[in-house]
Amino acid sequence: MPAALCRAPKTVLRSPADTPSGRPATSPETLPLSAGQPGRRVLIKGGMVLSMDDAVGNFARGDVLVEGPKIVQIAAQIDPGDAAVIDAAGKIVMPGFVDTHHHQFETGLRSSLPDAILVPDGQPENTINYYETMLQNYSQHYRPEDVYINELYGGLAQLDAGVTTVMDVSQIHHSPEHSDAVVKGLQDAGRRAVFGYFEGWWEGNQYPGDAVRLRSDHFSSDDQLLTMVMGGEIYIPGYENAWKVGRELDLQIALHVVGTFGMAPTFDELAKSGAFGPDNIFIHMTGISDFAWKTAADAGSHVSLSVPIEMHMRHGQPPIQRALDLGMGLSLSSDVECTMSADFFTQMRGLITLQRMNVNDAALGGAAEYPKLMRCMDAIRHATIEGAKGLRLDHKTGSLTPGKEADIILLDAEAINVAPVNNVPGAVVTLMDRSNVDTVMVAGQIRKWQGKLLGHDMAKLGTELAASRDYIFEKAGIEQDLFA
Ligand SMILES: [Zn+2]
Repeated sequence: MPAALCRAPKTVLRSPADTPSGRPATSPETLPLSAGQPGRRVLIKGGMVLSMDDAVGNFARGDVLVEGPKIVQIAAQIDPGDAAVIDAAGKIVMPGFVDTHHHQFETGLRSSLPDAILVPDGQPENTINYYETMLQNYSQHYRPEDVYINELYGGLAQLDAGVTTVMDVSQIHHSPEHSDAVVKGLQDAGRRAVFGYFEGWWEGNQYPGDAVRLRSDHFSSDDQLLTMVMGGEIYIPGYENAWKVGRELDLQIALHVVGTFGMAPTFDELAKSGAFGPDNIFIHMTGISDFAWKTAADAGSHVSLSVPIEMHMRHGQPPIQRALDLGMGLSLSSDVECTMSADFFTQMRGLITLQRMNVNDAALGGAAEYPKLMRCMDAIRHATIEGAKGLRLDHKTGSLTPGKEADIILLDAEAINVAPVNNVPGAVVTLMDRSNVDTVMVAGQIRKWQGKLLGHDMAKLGTELAASRDYIFEKAGIEQDLFA
């Protein structure tokens, strides 16, 4: 049994017939502990089902049947038979969110750079900046144990918020032990994760060559929650080799593309050389040429935007409309919690309000033509199925579709900040926050139940994370100032 479930409350699964009223049971006593195990059937009953799959459709009141790790049926009404029943009345039942770019190794440094921009600009108030403080100082001091606790805690925190899939951009591969600690942290969090093998800085650093070992040690099977992507940062000398190694291993190549950080000429050269492909995940895509945009679109490359971070940290205008106009796959990503929340309600609201502001501005400015306003359903699409496609995981996750794995979240639509519901995507995008995430399932296994994350002693993990943070602050020579 997975670690995440073996420490859950010792309770006995009851079939619906055991409940006195005959009503589906949702009390902690009926937590379907064996959910996700081969052959075990769980029926999520009577929820507002938002499938994000046009072929399945949506149900004002519908049932989702899960068997073992997979969704087997979605319909207005399904006979439970021998299935354990989860009463989803008053809940929105939808696919878990997909974050296509998150630096989880920085979790212990949350809120440490709330006012920072990406790189220094010569202004005294921006002396503390992300590049110099985070990457050139803090990150240099991580031990493997720091990597592990940061990865685990960050993963659990996002799982608690309904983000069931992540691409973790781990720029912390100072040694093979650091890399293994990333993998272990992702595994122990018990969610679907893409291990992004990015750079490292210590003498023991074997990036990118260690990719071969990592792939064979940890990613030889596709039948697991973890997969791998190769980091190919073009601001690092020798990136050509990282791209080559990644492609030889049949891995997608992901990289930050921030033209305002001096990457535009290199990106143009790569575009000219025909290096872009459908295996590329380009993060941010700010400040780059029209030519590079068109080449990336023609190549079928994917775009991951961290809208609140790009606005806050001066990456440049988030190129939402550009990606949409070119018909590119567009997903959302949280990026760094040292400066912004990793919760996906924040991501969706950042995306939709900025897109609509720009369109509304054009309309008010008298433009003869302007783009269509984004709708709430679109924002959810970018936060779920588009992310799954970008990570090549849409055969497993991103929508509620029979045959896919059961990465499902139940959102409380009767809560004080939402009730009464009059529009499901509207409630999710414009009203909800992480407090509405009631239950979270990954590949059929229940990771959060009725508002409580299962299987981990979060107080203990929090203490370990704070101790790691203290160590890193001390090594970095930075004194903590809670009100700086
Ligand atoms: Zn990033």
